Amino acid sequence: MRRTLSVGVVVGSVILAACSGGSDDPVPFVPSGDPSTTPPVAQPNALEAALQQATGVPWAVDIDPASGLASFAKPLGALRLDTSAAVFLARFPAVFGAAAGELTALREETDAEDGTKVSVLEQRIDKVLVETTTMAAHFGADGTLTSVQGHGFRPATAATAARTEADARAAAAAASGSVADGSAVLTYLPHPAAAPKSARLAYAVRVRQGTASAAVYFVDATDGTVLAIRNDLVAAEGSGVGASGFTHRFAVTQSGTAPAPVTFSLESPDRAYPGNLKVIDVSGGSITGPAITSPKADEWLLGVSDARRGQAVDAYGYAIAAMKYYSARFRQNSYDNAGGRIDILVHDSGDNYNAAGGFIDGGRPVMLFTDGVTAKSYKTLATAPDVVGHELGHLIQVSQLGKKTQGAFEGQSIEEGLADVFGTLFEMSLGAGDPSTVGEAAITGGVRNLKDPALCDKTFGGPCPVDVDDGAMKSKDPHIPSTIVSHAFYLAAFGGENAKLKIAITDPISTKQAEDLYFETVKKCYQAGATYKALAQCQVERAKAKGIPFQPIACAWAAVKVVTVEDAKKRYNVSCDGAVSCEGKTNGFYCAPDVFARKATSYKCQGGKVESQDTCMACVEYHADRSKQNCSK
Ligand SMILES: [Zn+2]
Repeated sequence: MRRTLSVGVVVGSVILAACSGGSDDPVPFVPSGDPSTTPPVAQPNALEAALQQATGVPWAVDIDPASGLASFAKPLGALRLDTSAAVFLARFPAVFGAAAGELTALREETDAEDGTKVSVLEQRIDKVLVETTTMAAHFGADGTLTSVQGHGFRPATAATAARTEADARAAAAAASGSVADGSAVLTYLPHPAAAPKSARLAYAVRVRQGTASAAVYFVDATDGTVLAIRNDLVAAEGSGVGASGFTHRFAVTQSGTAPAPVTFSLESPDRAYPGNLKVIDVSGGSITGPAITSPKADEWLLGVSDARRGQAVDAYGYAIAAMKYYSARFRQNSYDNAGGRIDILVHDSGDNYNAAGGFIDGGRPVMLFTDGVTAKSYKTLATAPDVVGHELGHLIQVSQLGKKTQGAFEGQSIEEGLADVFGTLFEMSLGAGDPSTVGEAAITGGVRNLKDPALCDKTFGGPCPVDVDDGAMKSKDPHIPSTIVSHAFYLAAFGGENAKLKIAITDPISTKQAEDLYFETVKKCYQAGATYKALAQCQVERAKAKGIPFQPIACAWAAVKVVTVEDAKKRYNVSCDGAVSCEGKTNGFYCAPDVFARKATSYKCQGGKVESQDTCMACVEYHADRSKQNCSK
């Protein structure tokens, strides 16, 4: 079974790579129709005619069917305005919806490279803002007007409110069933349902729903009816391309609703699952935010290099996936089972660390990723799902310690080892990657190697120790001896043979049991001041309690010399001689996992006893008389 699994993993990653390469292929242009056909000359519509008469140049105008006003207008000849865009557009209330004195510039931007300019305008009727709408006038480098996007609205009601603010709050409270104790602001609400070109004077009453989320109730200032309800934060589907070209899809937060300017942010929307994740670019020096925003839901940090925008996307995408895995698999509501939020800080500088997870400023939960170290030539570690999982593991584990990190070095190395275990389990849940290495998606061969700790990357302080007597235990970096915990876990979960003591684990626990063992370990065995020995024995006890085979676990700890083979026998009555066992197995052929001395071992169970054993290049399991062939040499 395990051999089949590892083949699937390889195939999966190949397909993944092929897919991400294929998506870059340009779609060939296929002409349709007869290119010699000349389109008929269209008669100008009423708005085009009005603009042409006033300006002397022809116009192309798209008409918004709801309001009958211009949604897009473009002069077809050079048009240089004799006044500001705000004054010019207000000359045509029947075309653009706004009247004299109603438009003011919200912002103006000139492109430093091509000299084009955009002027974004908002509309106020008698000083009351018209909600959810702005207009944008675009100018060429030569100063001519190139296009106008959007339109304003005409007031359908008087600018004086007949109803009071208190009336509006009462109406919103009655409609929402919640207390309307937020702000109540007089506004003009475009309300096409009542009158397409019109905006009605209304109170925008904010009503809290839950802890952080809010909805805005628009209460008609004339007759007190609720005209519209809008969440001020909106869930939106977003996506982005990670630093390795992998496209993540995730929920992002949308502020504003078209045709008003829409802004998306790399932040969990209200009621998202999982929620409370926010990505902050800290390259400017501030770690307090706000979240990274974009005018597009599928492109982030526009204008910066692919690698930089990829980091935020990878970190957000994998953090969501890791949180989803943790909360679904272990029925937890966030890392602390209390809906805890996480701020994901990206683009930090720093040569000494590459990714981190934990609590800063007395309890603020963060995951942090640096831009990588050029000298070590690897991508940001946010590219690696097991590293992002590792950082979430820290939040899960350290919150078990009262959000305080381990004081002693041994405890720190346990913290790192368990984080690698969680990162690996998460990566396996994605059906991708190599469970024996950590960070292989960012750096070839990975940062650490749980199967063969001697292969831990040198630039990251490797090799790592294979047992507690290994010289690598002397490292001052707790990540290095963390393999005492993670190598033992790997042996128990995947089987294999320890390099020094040659203890072979031939009947490892299942993936599900490995997941349960991690959770049991963190919840029941992990504490401030934890030691290898105490952790190992607690793990065996928890395995016993949960019906998880404890022989491979006890022997894995014996392999890293945390418990002795004698103690494993004496305390748990297990022998670690690497023998295969047919106890409780139906008749058939089984595979023992790779060990260094034997490439693969197939063994035949008959009547609960090992009948025969064979060594071959690849092994396929057959039970219940499905086949008699078991070795393909
Ligand atoms: Zn760590």
